[in-house]
Amino acid sequence: MSNAHTVWLPYAQMQTALDPLEVITGKGSVLTLADGRQLVDAVASWWTACHGYNHPHLIEAIQTQAQQIAHVMLGGLIHPQTQRLAERLVQSLPNGLSHVLYSESGSVAIEIAMKVALQYWRHQKENQRKHFIHFEYGYHGDTFYTMSVCCPNEGMHRLFKDLLAPQYCHPLPTTDHLLESFEKFVQTHAPSVAGLLIEPLVQGAGGMKMHDAATLRAICEIAKRHHVLVIFDEIFTGFGRTGSLFALEQANVTPDIICLSKALTGGTVPLAATITQDFIYQAFLSDDPAKSLMHGTTFMGNPLACAAANASLDLFESMPRLSQVADIAGFLEATLRPACEIKGVKEVRVKGAIGVIQLARSLSTSEGNWLKQAFIAQGVWCRPFGDIVYTTPALTIDQDALAHITHAMIKQVRQWSTKFFVS
Ligand SMILES: *Cc1c(COP(=O)(O)O)cnc(C)c1O
Repeated sequence: MSNAHTVWLPYAQMQTALDPLEVITGKGSVLTLADGRQLVDAVASWWTACHGYNHPHLIEAIQTQAQQIAHVMLGGLIHPQTQRLAERLVQSLPNGLSHVLYSESGSVAIEIAMKVALQYWRHQKENQRKHFIHFEYGYHGDTFYTMSVCCPNEGMHRLFKDLLAPQYCHPLPTTDHLLESFEKFVQTHAPSVAGLLIEPLVQGAGGMKMHDAATLRAICEIAKRHHVLVIFDEIFTGFGRTGSLFALEQANVTPDIICLSKALTGGTVPLAATITQDFIYQAFLSDDPAKSLMHGTTFMGNPLACAAANASLDLFESMPRLSQVADIAGFLEATLRPACEIKGVKEVRVKGAIGVIQLARSLSTSEGNWLKQAFIAQGVWCRPFGDIVYTTPALTIDQDALAHITHAMIKQVRQWSTKFFVS
């Protein structure tokens, strides 16, 4: 039943892409396919479904909202769900982060953060501050401006290299030596820099690379010393993934702007938020209309999405999500660590509800397809990419389902090693 590929799939060479599996329902950590097969989801739909699929509290909130009004424009009108969510997000973040700009995807939330930072400096009459500092292995989205702050070596957007805005990329300064060179780098470029973008503690799509809280704190201190605005991209790390509600809590730092999306609505409806410090907001207040932020996406602050996000926050408040993450971390550590012994495995790393087996080299397309199919045969939905096999399960996953995932990860990596690496 080869489909006609009317749907152009993401990140796929369509000539060789495997036919997508048709999903009919989801419940907890399990996806049910059209042919009746069931798969335990190791990825939680790009780590959005933090409470598992079809959580009754989220469904009810969406249904109730849909009966009242599904959408109303945010130009001059607002819905209480939209207002309430902004207040709750501000309350759950460190003091100072106090103004919420809504959008519908993570990439656009980053675009808005960059636009706000650039315009902030224009208000200060520092128009020359028009570049951004970012890090190797970073990922901030697929739109044109966000592509310019993705890792330039990692390759995904290399095709457009000649069209992308010039930015300043540095390795993550995880050693004293690198910190020194990073400080010089920031000092040199600061006069032309509007802001710095970082995924705090874990760089997700660039390969699930992890750094510690001390490194994050040092980066923020350097940026502050040189008057560079700090933008945290917590689109991956936000909402419990790394063990705290937000990764920034572990380093006890406050960025100037933070971007959220992915798990914001518990994996139900698209929504993103860019939240700025009050002093940035204040810089836009003026008698002069030209000083306004000219940004408004059509579905900004969509009530259906905001209702889902409010319901998701209810669950973070009423359920022991963070202790569930701690349990998952312990279990991942215990069950994935033995993969270190397998030939062709470079490293095993765990942070919160993120478990990664990094291989000694990148997978070829055919190895990647072989692995995906082997996982499906095991009843697991797992999508290795680059040189990693990873899991980012629902924070609500039960131990049996998680054991099913980690068992399959170890087994398939071992088979890959024998079949493709050792021989
Ligand atoms: C997914 C992601 C984005 C982009 O979000 P989209 O909703 O896919 O546009 C940006 N930054 C990080 C860290 C992400 O994980």
